[in-house]
Amino acid sequence: MRKPVIAGNWKMYKLHDEAVKTALELRSLVANANHCEVVIAPVFTALKTVCDRLEGSNVRVSAQDCATETEQGAHTGEVSAEMLNDAGCSHIIIGHSERRQFYGETDRSVNLKTRACLKSGLTAIVCVGEMLPDRESGNAEKVVKEQLEGGLDGLTVSDMERIIIAYEPVWAIGTGKTATPGQAQEMHGFIRSFIAEKHGKETADQTRILYGGSVKPENIGELMDQTDIDGALVGGASLSAESFSKIVNYNLG
Ligand code: PEP
Repeated sequence: MRKPVIAGNWKMYKLHDEAVKTALELRSLVANANHCEVVIAPVFTALKTVCDRLEGSNVRVSAQDCATETEQGAHTGEVSAEMLNDAGCSHIIIGHSERRQFYGETDRSVNLKTRACLKSGLTAIVCVGEMLPDRESGNAEKVVKEQLEGGLDGLTVSDMERIIIAYEPVWAIGTGKTATPGQAQEMHGFIRSFIAEKHGKETADQTRILYGGSVKPENIGELMDQTDIDGALVGGASLSAESFSKIVNYNLG
């Protein structure tokens, strides 16, 4: 049985104090949510305090990126997975489409960051997803397959225990356009078969695959009804504790 994961990506929003305030509001709003794992990803500067203030709660903290390098050294501007672990994070989002589109992230760097994340004992939320022209030209699965092949290259069955996949069609991120539950299910099923082919059915059955792209309190229910959707990676609607808690509490109707 896969435990769902509802993760909030706060992107480059919220100064330190506001991040802490939202995290604390969320802490009480989701205190009874045992049906899923709750994760929030604030900006780097707020991570340590948010982790400290959420200690003992059921809300885990993720970073939004990490360095490809694992050893301390002359890497100006980079933050290693080990440092994120030290700050109290349990997860790292890797290969978000905004990083792929605007900051030169490649399948190779996603792979290195994923390995760095695992080496530090953290869980990687590895993002994949096609652009609109890929979907319109019938190449969505081909693109996602390439991202999975490159990003997860060389990982073992035991590595896969700490991998969460987030399928985020780029055309649905921040646009208000959600993939239909059917479209999302189709790609999630494809991703699960890809994992089964590489690592066996048991691993595929245990891997959580999240959907991301304009998830809101109004559409989470129908997405979660799909067989292969095991949670959500939420951007805009995770910025308010109230709306994010409604998504977390989707099971209450
Ligand atoms: C995201 O940033 O991962 C995302 C899915 O954003 P939004 O929910 O705003 O579309």
